[in-house]
Amino acid sequence: MITSANAASDVPQIIYGLSIRGVRAHVVESTDRHMRRHTDRYLIVLDDPTPIRLKIAQDSLASIWDAILDEYPRAVTLNGHCYFCKYDVTTLSRPTTCPECGHNLDSHQARRTMRDGKGRVGRGHGPKPL
Ligand SMILES: [Zn+2]
Repeated sequence: MITSANAASDVPQIIYGLSIRGVRAHVVESTDRHMRRHTDRYLIVLDDPTPIRLKIAQDSLASIWDAILDEYPRAVTLNGHCYFCKYDVTTLSRPTTCPECGHNLDSHQARRTMRDGKGRVGRGHGPKPL
């Protein structure tokens, strides 16, 4: 597995992003309910993971996730607070690890959590950041 996704709409974007770099991949849907609590639903797997394809795929993933999460550059709310615990991170330098809850607010994982509206009380999409 090279990366994973929870939103079905992310899957074709990841596979396309890899394919334009010459790396073919496919998706495996996790059907194990127990496993799903610990990982994402869709696992992206390389068709033929030679060392060079693996390296290209790993190097490409940051820019692929950046493109997918374009509207969520940080897991920070409109008023400059940590998405997870509401700690005011306005004055902290980037990249920011929230001193209150420890989340790296610039990581793809944190940005995905904010986009998917998870990680805190209440459901639905998180507010768009600045
Ligand atoms: Zn926090």
